[in-house]
Amino acid sequence: TKDDVKGFFVRNAFVILTIAAVIIGIILGFALRPYKMSYREVKFFSFPGELLMRMLQMLVLPLLVSSLITGMASLDSRASGKMGMRAVVYYTTTTVIAVFIGIVMVLIIHPGKGSKDEFSKPQQIEQVSAADAFLDLIRNMFPPNLVEACTKQFKTQYAKRVVQVTMTVNDTIFAPNGSQTVAREEMIPVPGAVNGINALGLVVFSICFGLIIGSMREQGQPLKDFFDSLNEAVMRLVAIIMWYAPVGILFLIAGKIVEMDDITSMGSQLAMYTVTVICGLLIHAVLVLPTLYFIVTRKNPFVFIAGLLQALITALGTSSSSATLPITFKCLEENNKVDKRVTRFVLPVGATINMDGTALYEALAAIFIAQVNDYDLNFGQILTISITATAASIGAAGIPQAGLVTMVIVLTSVGLPTDDITLIIAVDWFLDRLRTTTNVLGDSIGAGIVEHLSRHELQRKDPEVGNSVVEE
Ligand code: ASP
Repeated sequence: TKDDVKGFFVRNAFVILTIAAVIIGIILGFALRPYKMSYREVKFFSFPGELLMRMLQMLVLPLLVSSLITGMASLDSRASGKMGMRAVVYYTTTTVIAVFIGIVMVLIIHPGKGSKDEFSKPQQIEQVSAADAFLDLIRNMFPPNLVEACTKQFKTQYAKRVVQVTMTVNDTIFAPNGSQTVAREEMIPVPGAVNGINALGLVVFSICFGLIIGSMREQGQPLKDFFDSLNEAVMRLVAIIMWYAPVGILFLIAGKIVEMDDITSMGSQLAMYTVTVICGLLIHAVLVLPTLYFIVTRKNPFVFIAGLLQALITALGTSSSSATLPITFKCLEENNKVDKRVTRFVLPVGATINMDGTALYEALAAIFIAQVNDYDLNFGQILTISITATAASIGAAGIPQAGLVTMVIVLTSVGLPTDDITLIIAVDWFLDRLRTTTNVLGDSIGAGIVEHLSRHELQRKDPEVGNSVVEE
């Protein structure tokens, strides 16, 4: 009847608006392409999209911190320990599967044909070693200054320094006539920083802080109430931003289509590479993750995924899993009714360290670069790539194209030229959106699986933080 139809539209208003935004965005983008807008015009045009990004990013910091602290404080230590273990097992298993799929796909399809002729010229890329990057990953877990962690991540950089070295007579090349002072250039590490929040450091801190608050009983109560109330307030802001999200997504997508390079001029290797990545991500997102969800929960994975649609589309539009985090929370808690005690832990941690799409991509891309260079990788090197790709996906921040930067770790670990990252830059903006969507899906399915596995512990419901959606 008419009322049913109306009811359907009202209930699904967000999803319908979001899907419409994507379609209109694509049409508008292609319609405007022939006008060849200048860079500045494109920036003006996509301004509403930029605003959405900024609004979502604005909420990430309070949301991440308050959800983790309240989440940890409201579980007793045994329950949080078990849930944490399950989440970590899930993150590890799915990341390993993703890397495996990436490697198998690139080895079977073999998109790289041993020549660089069809690529545009590489640019200079900053040099950091795999070990440097790995230590930075761990350094970032322990920010020395919490306020700074809200604005910056630590990053090792190198500076050139000219040193005076006195050579002795033994040095026949530099000092054939006995002792002599020469100037030599040396690289010294200098503390560097990249802008954006140090999510990893804040996650580690918030988990510990939340656990401590939880163990303090009455003394911890004021802090717990504070973060609870902060969390609730942020989620209400998210509810308002959701109304604006379709407009933002429309312009983000249209703007990108207007600005993108002509795809018909893409070389055949790059085209094959793009197809390989898409196939790999599809297998992981449409086959592996849903199957895993079904095996564990015996529930229909696609019903679960339908509830996530808005988060997935936001990931596609923003290419940032941390910017999508507020929407992921809303979808899981309101559409899929996942217990808040689970989402509050699994989602923020997942958005920071669990990136299946990125891991798959990094392993695949590194092997592709080896293929283009006609460089044969042995089994040990492929194993190295899978380990470093996992580390690189953990280290990648949930921001656009972060995976491209952490690829340096993977390439240097097997001696591939890091400059060759530039070979794949042309298509990265597109693949980034797809891998971000896979990342968000992985985190969300993880929340569903961990909730199912933790159902016994969760039954002893904390009256204050139980699933308020159910209570309402
Ligand atoms: N953009 C991705 C994300 O936010 C990270 C990446 O570049 O792979 O999840």
